[in-house]
Amino acid sequence: MNKKRDQKVAVVGGGLCGTLLAIRLKQRGFTVAVYEKRPDMRKADISAGRSINLALSNRGLKALELIGLRDKVDQLTIPMKGRMLHDIHGQARLSPYSGRASDYINSISRGDLNSLLYDEAEKSGIPIFFNHSCISTEPDLGHFTFSDGDGNTVHVQADCIFGTDGAGSAVRQSAMERSNWLRFDYSQSFLSHGYKELSIPPSEEESFRIEPRVLHIWPRKEFMMIGLPNPDKTFTITLFLPFEGKNGFHSIASDEDIMEYFKKWFPDAVPHMPQLLQEYRENPTSSLGTIRCYPWKIGKKTCLLGDAAHAIVPFYGQGMNCAFEDVVVLDKIMDSSPANWGAIFEAFQQARKPDADAIADLAIDNFIEMRDKVADPAFMLKRKLELELEKNHEEYFSKYSLVTFREDVPYSTAMQLGREQDRFLLKLAEDKKEVEDFDQIAIMKKVKALYKKYGL
Ligand SMILES: Cc1cc2nc3c(=O)[nH]c(=O)nc-3n(C[C@H](O)[C@H](O)[C@H](O)COP(=O)(O)OP(=O)(O)OC[C@H]3O[C@@H](n4cnc5c(N)ncnc54)[C@H](O)[C@@H]3O)c2cc1C
Repeated sequence: MNKKRDQKVAVVGGGLCGTLLAIRLKQRGFTVAVYEKRPDMRKADISAGRSINLALSNRGLKALELIGLRDKVDQLTIPMKGRMLHDIHGQARLSPYSGRASDYINSISRGDLNSLLYDEAEKSGIPIFFNHSCISTEPDLGHFTFSDGDGNTVHVQADCIFGTDGAGSAVRQSAMERSNWLRFDYSQSFLSHGYKELSIPPSEEESFRIEPRVLHIWPRKEFMMIGLPNPDKTFTITLFLPFEGKNGFHSIASDEDIMEYFKKWFPDAVPHMPQLLQEYRENPTSSLGTIRCYPWKIGKKTCLLGDAAHAIVPFYGQGMNCAFEDVVVLDKIMDSSPANWGAIFEAFQQARKPDADAIADLAIDNFIEMRDKVADPAFMLKRKLELELEKNHEEYFSKYSLVTFREDVPYSTAMQLGREQDRFLLKLAEDKKEVEDFDQIAIMKKVKALYKKYGL
């Protein structure tokens, strides 16, 4: 490779992944520029895009640590130590995420995090070209074209291009147009459910109306609602419903339908949602899907990262964490000094694809678990047992903990090991009533053998 400072790297898509990647590449000595379709969210009054707040956990935090931003980000987060489960009668109970007090996830505003990344990128000398929408690329030549918002078409030449332009990636689209040449695989599958964002405002005393240091869930089998706290004492509420059917978005249309539905299914939330009717009517209903594609290395000079390469449904709270972890994996590959970008991209996609596929599958599993199983007796007993095991045995990690708190364990290992462990514990839980009925020593013997099999 040429001297790094002579290497011009273009990052297409200045969302969460692209901006973090740009900062890391700059730290490694490259000349980097970011091209972002939207206006600068720090100046324009635009929403930060899909989902107002996000759950940030260990894998994402590790990437933020890599670029030296962990401390600043910590100041923007609200820790959430468990799920607060609300039943249909308005009773709530806490289900901790882990038996270890030190394990929690964090609520963070997408806009605050992206703005911080923009500030840091610009401080380190990275130009961010806002209102620059990529319209096509010549992946093998490092050439790309975008529209600058004033109707001008601009051509840019780079030594390498990263496509971090999200689930609707234009860079990926260019690859699809050459799919024969690249043998480019692509699939998109939608859930039958969509989502709508609502809110709980602060109380009249300007405090949180419900417990802030948890992720609230109203699980109702076929559908569910969740709530994450924000620093301004509001909650972002996300309603996940099927599009069709009696309890689907298409059926809940009139003001009467909306109020009747919410009072029936979420009676304890309704008094805290004074803008419910207006928000339900005015906020968009969005779809949820999984995108898989391969290769991510497009020609010799272009690579997809983040949602552009692997968009997943949001039920494990891992899409951004996974996109950030992409940068950590890429960075590690670059440490081993491969000869050129093509070699780096090849090693990256081979290392990362199995893990991206695993978290896509896990996210769909968790959709079923969150809306359906969290209230099932055998599942609840297994969950109680797992919390005890985590409390009493430092070697034990539930599947959720392996995915969320063990950034040293690849997603694919977490999935295989976690599923095997789940099957074993659920079978044990079938004929038990209390946590005391389990032989924890015998369980741990089996668990340790399982961990050894997976190299942990
Ligand atoms: C409802 C919901 C809830 C979620 N909750 C969580 C969560 O709790 N935790 C979690 O980890 N993840 C969560 N996610 C997933 C997370 O939002 C994504 O995985 C993450 O944003 C991916 O980052 P990215 O940078 O790859 O893509 P994006 O954040 O989508 O960024 C892509 C950027 O590219 C820009 N762009 C698009 N097209 C072009 C173009 N043609 N030219 C130039 N720029 C372009 C866009 O404007 C955008 O800024 C959630 C997603 C949804 C939908």
